[in-house]
Amino acid sequence: MPLIIVTGLPTSGKSTRAGQLHAYLADKIEFQPAAAKYRLHLISDQTLSISRTVYDLSPEKLPAHTRSANASEKDARAALSSAVKRVLSTKDIVILDGPNYIKGWRYQLYCEAKNLSTPNVLLQIGCNVDRAKAVNDERLNRRDERLKNGEDVSRDDEAAEGAYEPANWENLVFRYEEPNPMTRWDSPLFTLIWEDDEAQTRKVFDDIWETIAGEGRKVIKPNQAAVQRSRDAGGDYLYVLDRETQDIVRSILDQQSDEGGGSIEISLGGGAGGPPLVVELPGKKVGLPQLQRYRRAFMNMNRGGIGLEAVGNMAATRMRESFVGYLNDAFEKDE
Ligand code: ADP
Ligand code: MG
Repeated sequence: MPLIIVTGLPTSGKSTRAGQLHAYLADKIEFQPAAAKYRLHLISDQTLSISRTVYDLSPEKLPAHTRSANASEKDARAALSSAVKRVLSTKDIVILDGPNYIKGWRYQLYCEAKNLSTPNVLLQIGCNVDRAKAVNDERLNRRDERLKNGEDVSRDDEAAEGAYEPANWENLVFRYEEPNPMTRWDSPLFTLIWEDDEAQTRKVFDDIWETIAGEGRKVIKPNQAAVQRSRDAGGDYLYVLDRETQDIVRSILDQQSDEGGGSIEISLGGGAGGPPLVVELPGKKVGLPQLQRYRRAFMNMNRGGIGLEAVGNMAATRMRESFVGYLNDAFEKDE
C-alpha cells in the first residue's frame, strides 16, 4: 500500500489535512470489509519528536558541534526515512506529514516505495503565503505571551505544534520546491487548498482512496488541458489561479452592459504587454452565480496544474488567457 506524502509551505495546514486523511482512512479500514486488511500509520516530525529547529540554517541557532548548516535536517530526514521503511509494505498505508519540500527527498521516498512494490501519492496543501505566515506569527505571539508569564513552553503540546523562528519560516518558503506532477515521483498529485470545504476534501480523499485501493487502481493523470503550473511571485499556484479568475469574473460583471451581449476586454494582467484578451458575451446578461459556476469548474479542472515552465507574471497571464478561452467556449455552447 502506498506512501502518501503530504507537502506544503510551513504552517499551511498540512498536519490538519493529514489528520483528516488519517481519520478518513481509519474509517474505511474499520467499516469496509475489503479494506480491513490494511494497517494505517501517520509519521511526522512530531511523532518522531523532530524539532522545528532542524530546518533552521541561521548560524547562531546551530549547536557548536554541528557538522554543517543542514546536518541536523539530514539526520531528521534519515530518521523519517527509516521510520517509513520500518512500516511500509503492501499491507500498510503510511501518511508522511511534513514539509517534504525537497525534490530530491521526494524522489528518494518514491524509490524506497518502489523498492517495496508500493506506489506513492502526493498530497499538496495549497495556502496563500500571507495566510500561512499569519498562522506562524500568531503562534510566535502566543509563545512570547506565555514566556512573559513565566510559563515553560519547551515541553508541551503547544511546543510540538510550535512556531518556527521567523527567519526559519521565511527560508523554508524560499527553499520550497513545488511538486511537478509531470515527474514520476511527484505523481499522482492531489491538491487541497485551505478554503476547501468538507465536500471537496472528501472528494479528494475519495480520489486518493480510488487510486490506492480502488478496483482498477488506475493512476490518475493530471488534466492535460490544464494551464501551466509554476512558482509565481507568491509561491502558490492555486492562490494565483484563484485570484486571477476572480479578477476576470469581477471585470466581466463591472463592464457588461445591462442588455448583455457584445464583447469586453480583459487585461493580460501582471504588467504584461500585448493586446488585451477579449471575452465574447452571450446574448443575455450573465450573472455572478453563472460566472462562479464556470470559475469553479475551471479551478477544479486546473487544480492539479501541469508542470510546464512559466515564471512570475507569465504564469498569471497564462492562467488569464486560459480562463478567458474557457469562458468563450462555455458562452458559445450556452447560446
Ligand atoms: P502545518 O502542519 O502545515 O504546520 P497545521 O495543520 O498545524 O499546519 O495548521 C496550522 C493552523 O492553521 C492550525 O491552528 C490549524 O487549526 C489551522 N488550519 C489549518 N488548516 C486549516 C483550514 N483548512 N481551515 C482553517 N484553519 C486551518
Ligand atoms: Mg505540521
